[in-house]
Amino acid sequence: MSAFDCDLFVIGGGSGGVRAARMAGQRGARVMLAEAAALGGTCVNVGCIPKKLYSYAAQFAQEFEDAAGFGWDLQPARFDWRRLKKNRAHEIARLNGVYEHLLRTAGVDLVRGWATLCDPHTVQVATADGARRWRARHILVATGGTPSVPHIAGKEHVLTSDSMFDLDPFPGRLVVVGGGYIACEFASIFRGLGAAVTQLYRGEQVLRGFDDDVRHFLAQEVRKHGVDLRLRSDVAAIGRQGEALAVTLADGEVLPADCVLYATGRVPNVAGLGLDAAGVRLSPHGGIVVDEHYRSTAPSVFAVGDVTARLQLTPVALAEAMVVVDQLFGKRERAMSYDFVPTAVFTHPGIGTVGLTEAEARARHGEVRIFRSEFRALKHTLSGNPERTLMKLVVDAATDRVVGLHMVGQDAGEIVQGFAVAMKAGATKAVFDSTIGIHPTAAEEFVTMREPVGM
Ligand code: FAD
Ligand code: NDP
Repeated sequence: MSAFDCDLFVIGGGSGGVRAARMAGQRGARVMLAEAAALGGTCVNVGCIPKKLYSYAAQFAQEFEDAAGFGWDLQPARFDWRRLKKNRAHEIARLNGVYEHLLRTAGVDLVRGWATLCDPHTVQVATADGARRWRARHILVATGGTPSVPHIAGKEHVLTSDSMFDLDPFPGRLVVVGGGYIACEFASIFRGLGAAVTQLYRGEQVLRGFDDDVRHFLAQEVRKHGVDLRLRSDVAAIGRQGEALAVTLADGEVLPADCVLYATGRVPNVAGLGLDAAGVRLSPHGGIVVDEHYRSTAPSVFAVGDVTARLQLTPVALAEAMVVVDQLFGKRERAMSYDFVPTAVFTHPGIGTVGLTEAEARARHGEVRIFRSEFRALKHTLSGNPERTLMKLVVDAATDRVVGLHMVGQDAGEIVQGFAVAMKAGATKAVFDSTIGIHPTAAEEFVTMREPVGM
């Protein structure tokens, strides 16, 4: 008889955990998975999926306005927040069930409760029936992350993205603090749904780490859509003012608000996990330290996804999980490349980006050629919508390879996903030039930019 109750014990049933458990189970491993909350983790319950559903909801407002120029007369549209919340909750519950079904059909033993490590091979789970322990040959920690809010006076009044999906009532006036993915996306979403949105960012420009042209262009476009985006803006305190909240800024101005969203980053879920007992060390950023095969400082314990505090994206967590499964149950050790990971920000308009920013490319390659195009999309010639689109290519002059591709505009995520394959395959600018466009689309602009705007 095996000294272990299972081959793999996965802690956390989110993007990375479910993928690892399911694939290991399908390969015949004896797998257990502990989840303390709803299956699917952040992405399914309070992240990518509900966020994208709400983003669709918000886009309708613009579509209704745009329709007039195409001959449509619509009744004044009325938005029912309660119906959207109810339909979202229904869909998420369906997905929770799909995840459970996937795990069970892969033979994974599901345990409901909070898991902790007792030693490098033992997991204890606080289940409804009391604490139980299992011995595992390998343990995978995929516990994700949680929103982090800085210490400010009145912190008790603020919400994080976790609470935004079920807000009651709908906030007429929303103040969003932060300039990253979540702050920008939620500012666009709630503006589109009808809230008056003020977004406060402490720095010079939102979306630090993105290409500078993209950052400035996005700021200009979201302002056109009515987001009151304020840069170099810090919060001093938040207090109550009757029914409402009052956000006092560092310069003394007071903003009334029905809701204040802090979207100031996420930290790894490591508290109370018993990592010390298992000999698992943390990095200065608070994430679990892993090697290129996601092995922690305890050889039997692995970690993937947001808990490692690196690239916090669902497809990255999924890909990392596959590396672990291939290594443990596929007899194939491999490392994953983090080059050319595409990403989208679901603002209105959206951002799609893959590869290096212009600044990164200059630092890494020296001489680069920049191709940039800014235009009004065909649709908006009739809609009257003043929204503009930005497309940008960054080319390494020495090799002609396209090392960065960036877009702000409708469907940017959908468009950039396809180009990411070409970039991963090493496409040069000459290959882009020899590719025939699809007319009339916005995407064709990426293969028809001929004159560099900068070297
Ligand atoms: P998670 O999905 O967070 O799963 C961790 C799971 O572990 C959770 O279910 C938790 O309950 C469970 N858990 C934690 N501790 C324990 C314990 N001790 N015992 C048992 N269970 C435990 N990424 C994208 O790629 N695209 C997007 O559009 C996108 N949008 C996002 C929008 C928002 C608002 C947020 C917050 C995130 C978004 N992300 C997006 C990021 C994405 O959701 C995460 O990168 C991804 O979910 C990480 O997966 P994970 O497996 O590491 O962790
Ligand atoms: P981000 O790291 O993207 O952004 C955090 C923002 O908060 C930054 O603008 C940062 O400013 C600001 N900030 C940090 N600390 C403070 C502070 N003390 N006071 C004021 N501002 C502060 O985190 P998010 O919370 O937006 O999202 C977490 C992660 O989730 C993202 O990084 C992303 O990986 C993932 N995600 C992905 C999405 C997608 O793929 N579409 C959507 C949503 C989330 P500064 O830049 O100056 O440090």
